[in-house]
Amino acid sequence: MSSFIKYFTDLFGGIKSLLTGLTVTGKYFFSPGEIVTQQYPENRKNLVMFDRFKGEVIMPHNENNEHRCTGCGICENNCPNGSIEVISKRIETPEGKKVRIIDQHIYHLSMCTFCGLCIKTCPSNALAWGQEFEHAVFDRAKLTKILNKPGSSIIKGIEE
Ligand code: SF4
Ligand code: SF4
Repeated sequence: MSSFIKYFTDLFGGIKSLLTGLTVTGKYFFSPGEIVTQQYPENRKNLVMFDRFKGEVIMPHNENNEHRCTGCGICENNCPNGSIEVISKRIETPEGKKVRIIDQHIYHLSMCTFCGLCIKTCPSNALAWGQEFEHAVFDRAKLTKILNKPGSSIIKGIEE
């Protein structure tokens, strides 16, 4: 192919590609009902992330400040990069039974790759994805979080 023909082939190919893109842009521009772009951070108050969004690992607690974590450490063992530290302790119940409970479930968000292995492998279903995504901080230590809330306890009936 001569360079003259190639020049015009490329030129018309470029124009066609441009018109294809402008057609899509024009469709959304003249169809307000189909707008998908969000004005962030102006929409911060009303912003709801979609269900499958992986913002951070959290430990859900119920209204009685109870969670499902037994302190077994399986999530820690399965985390590929050491983002989780489980510190548990042994206590004696009023019935005289010795049981292990979670002391601190430490999550290093700054090291997390959001693979989800900790959530998938937890036998008690104690972890979940949270939807918080504004993680910018000046102090890196703030990205280390204790997932079990102060004063919380395990939901009765959940055994290791
Ligand atoms: S979050 Fe799940 S896997 Fe991790 S220590 Fe608690 S119960 Fe075990
Ligand atoms: S999501 Fe993956 S990297 Fe993050 S804490 Fe869980 S297992 Fe570790």
